Amino acid sequence: MTSNKEQILGRLVAMSRNLGLPERDYVILGDGNTSARIDDGSFWIKASGSQLHQIRPDEFVEVAIDKVLEMLEQKTLSDAEIARYLAGAKVDPANPNRPSIEASFHTLAYTICGAIFVGHTHPTALNAILCSQQAREALSSNIFTEQILYCGPEPAFVPYADPGLPLARAVKTAMLDYIDAYNEPPRVIMLQNHGLIALGKSAAEVENITAMCVKAARILLGTYLLGGPRFLSAADVERIYTRPDERYRREKLS
Ligand SMILES: [Zn+2]
Repeated sequence: MTSNKEQILGRLVAMSRNLGLPERDYVILGDGNTSARIDDGSFWIKASGSQLHQIRPDEFVEVAIDKVLEMLEQKTLSDAEIARYLAGAKVDPANPNRPSIEASFHTLAYTICGAIFVGHTHPTALNAILCSQQAREALSSNIFTEQILYCGPEPAFVPYADPGLPLARAVKTAMLDYIDAYNEPPRVIMLQNHGLIALGKSAAEVENITAMCVKAARILLGTYLLGGPRFLSAADVERIYTRPDERYRREKLS
């Protein structure tokens, strides 16, 4: 009989492979990382250097949440100290894998946002926007209804920060600001000059959010050829987001 922990790992492996499909162009080589919460104490995360496309269960590592939080409380840490903290956060010290340095923001997705699955990717279409001069404006609102349903009223936006502790701190600020503004956690976090974090209650939700963000990115790029995006009004966004029939549709698909 498979344990709950193994079932979660099985779903995480399937989600990771789907996010890594070459035709989707969300990641190449060792880009991106995925994780899934096991319980309040720990989560699975992709090992540093593994590729999502054909990832195996033994390429994940279980990480203790409190150990990563302890690392985030330190004011400054050298790269070597971070590596030591991450190695110390492994629940099974005999596991030869090294947790990704981005374990820090995955931890915050669980502790601050209540996520169950997290997918972090670097989609080419989305990064064309995130690496542009107009990233902030282009991602400030919504352009079509399904985008609102899956990705929420607005993405949380994180200005560029050095991967590691500075990025984790910037992500934390963006999460808390978002919760302040909307009274609920973000489902999408956009990292300037970097990529996307999708936060879901299920693996399917993370895949749906990522797919919708990439579709929206392609459409947005098209709109800049024709005078720029025509954003939906705040009232339209609010109406779509709170309509019971639309909520039902979203929940069914996730
Ligand atoms: Zn990344």
